[in-house]
Amino acid sequence: MPARFGPAGNSDAFSKVCKSTIQAPGYLEKMGLDHYEYQCGRGVKVTDKTAFALRDKAAEHGITLSLHAPYFISLSSIEEEKRDNSINYILQSCDAAKRLGAQRIVIHSGSCAKISRQEALELAKDTLIRARKAAVEQGFEDIIFCPETMGKVNQLGDLTEVLELCKLDDTFLPCVDFGHLNARGFGCIKEKADYEKMIAEMENAIGTDRTKVFHSHFSKIMFTEPGGEKKHLTFDDNMGYGPDFEPLMEIIAKKDMSPVFVCESAGTQDKDALTMKNYYLSVK
Ligand SMILES: [Zn+2]
Repeated sequence: MPARFGPAGNSDAFSKVCKSTIQAPGYLEKMGLDHYEYQCGRGVKVTDKTAFALRDKAAEHGITLSLHAPYFISLSSIEEEKRDNSINYILQSCDAAKRLGAQRIVIHSGSCAKISRQEALELAKDTLIRARKAAVEQGFEDIIFCPETMGKVNQLGDLTEVLELCKLDDTFLPCVDFGHLNARGFGCIKEKADYEKMIAEMENAIGTDRTKVFHSHFSKIMFTEPGGEKKHLTFDDNMGYGPDFEPLMEIIAKKDMSPVFVCESAGTQDKDALTMKNYYLSVK
């Protein structure tokens, strides 16, 4: 199975010519893309009407769907109430994903601003285990949780931490945001070997089968030291911020992997997803 490519939400170009997200699958198929990540960052508010229409259009146009869960989920909050609420937001995301026919939900790992990284990780693990248990109980066992690597240094979610979260349940897949990892590492992804090291770490932590189909976010991201992520850029912004996608595409093609790449460029996420896909096809 080849890798799949698509945008996170609607690009500026799409919004200029289309009125409704329901038009996204047709638009993306025409462009040559095959995936769409539905955004629930500000809350899960998808009606049945929208969900079923988008599900049907996606099937018609050969577009697979994933869903980005709310940004205010905080798996590692020191407040119990916020962790419990986070479980509810995850369940809402599962419900929306099920109605949309989306298999994967992307979940931010959390913060570790006020506690040690280890304490934050333990809290996040507990919340995620409880969320998965509740999801199974409510009939959402087919929905795959994808904890995401985060771009700010004081956020939980470097690659190792996300892999620790993924070890909790063998259905979980990492959402590896390479732009975030590069930003929190102040430009640490410089060459092919840097990507190879990350893929090897994934294989060691969760095995080759799950690594082969991992979820990914990709964009170039401006960063500062010591904070990390500052701003998502486009592939045309030539400001010296990486990472470069070409070495990663070469590895994915050579290893015959089938990840889903969701491009999060600022406004040009469909065009840049296609740039990645075309390069991938050229080296495949
Ligand atoms: Zn995200």
